[in-house]
Amino acid sequence: MIRHNQFWQNVLLGNVKQMPFSHIWDGGNPGSADILASIRSIGLLSLEQRQARMSGPCAACKWISICGGGFRTRAAFANYGNLWGSDPACYLRPEEIRA
Ligand code: SF4
Repeated sequence: MIRHNQFWQNVLLGNVKQMPFSHIWDGGNPGSADILASIRSIGLLSLEQRQARMSGPCAACKWISICGGGFRTRAAFANYGNLWGSDPACYLRPEEIRA
């Protein structure tokens, strides 16, 4: 089995005993193609596009240009796998986040 990296431990991408690694990595496994595309899109989108996909406090935070939206892996763990959720480790209070 391969997983995306050490930070995405709950994401199962495929089993290299059942299909080649390259097939999995290139999105050929239907069971993981969507999550791989979603993870990779993080680095392809502009900051504005990423924030538009976020939910919770990060979606409307005035500090996103500085912090970038926190740690997406932690956000995914805390939001049932939704990597566009808010980072639960953010220490800012709601009144500090609003624009
Ligand atoms: S709410 Fe916190 S983690 Fe999210 S963008 Fe703002 S400062 Fe960053």
